[in-house]
Amino acid sequence: MDLGLAGKVALVTGASKGLGFGTAEALVRDGASVVIVARSVDALETAATKLTTLAAADAQVVPIACDVTEPGAADAVVGATRDRFRGRIDIVVPNAGGPAPGGAWDVDDEQLRAAFEANCLASIRLARAALPTMTEQRWGRICCITSSFVKQPSPTLALSNVARTALWAWVKTAAQDVADTGVTVNLACPGLHDTDRIRKLGGRVGARMGDPADFGKVVAFLCSEPATYVNGVALQVDGGATLGLL
Ligand code: NAP
Repeated sequence: MDLGLAGKVALVTGASKGLGFGTAEALVRDGASVVIVARSVDALETAATKLTTLAAADAQVVPIACDVTEPGAADAVVGATRDRFRGRIDIVVPNAGGPAPGGAWDVDDEQLRAAFEANCLASIRLARAALPTMTEQRWGRICCITSSFVKQPSPTLALSNVARTALWAWVKTAAQDVADTGVTVNLACPGLHDTDRIRKLGGRVGARMGDPADFGKVVAFLCSEPATYVNGVALQVDGGATLGLL
């Protein structure tokens, strides 16, 4: 299937490794140029070098070191993308590291604020910064990386549950507002994938884990030309782990 991504300009944050890197890889393999964002310069440069080897001759891979939770970060990286690509930005995939574990009664205000910054507000700001260009282009795809916990909250990751369901509520509302503009806004909701984060959290021994490269291909589909009528969706990519009918 031709995803229609050749020549598109994509911004993927949290993209030096894990699910963000898998997404950048899928977009690059399908012919897009990508701007990748993360905080650690070394990891970002390594990721950019790998992606450049996969890029089409007329595509570019641009690393930008930035913490997406910092004030002004969203406008800065979206602006830098537009500056680099003659005013264009077609795809935005907001993503950042996940919050610490903890039950609902264990988390304090400061932890809640930090989770909202990283896993909700940063994504909304990135989407908001890109929207004017996307509506002008009459084409845009915003796909936030969240978690299957938006469908089935985890008893041990309350911060993730809270911040990501707030983002899901925003996305669902925002998607309706842009339905006639050529822009779509969706969520990709990973279950257990084999990344550094999951290894640090201890994973689930023996559980079947997803491959971040496959996850990235699902995000690339949600950001594709043929997905033009897929809007306001939270798509689980979890091997069927989530129990729930909605
Ligand atoms: P990961 O392996 O830890 O990778 C996180 C990426 O985001 C890295 O490139 C990291 O680089 C970057 N990053 C972190 N904080 C950032 C910030 N404030 N600003 C810019 N970049 C930042 O994590 P992952 O497993 O791919 O997970 C990605 C997201 O999906 C997380 O929110 C995670 O909670 C969620 N999720 C993952 C799974 C899974 O199974 N892997 C399941 C459900 C949900 P730097 O540290 O250098 O910035």
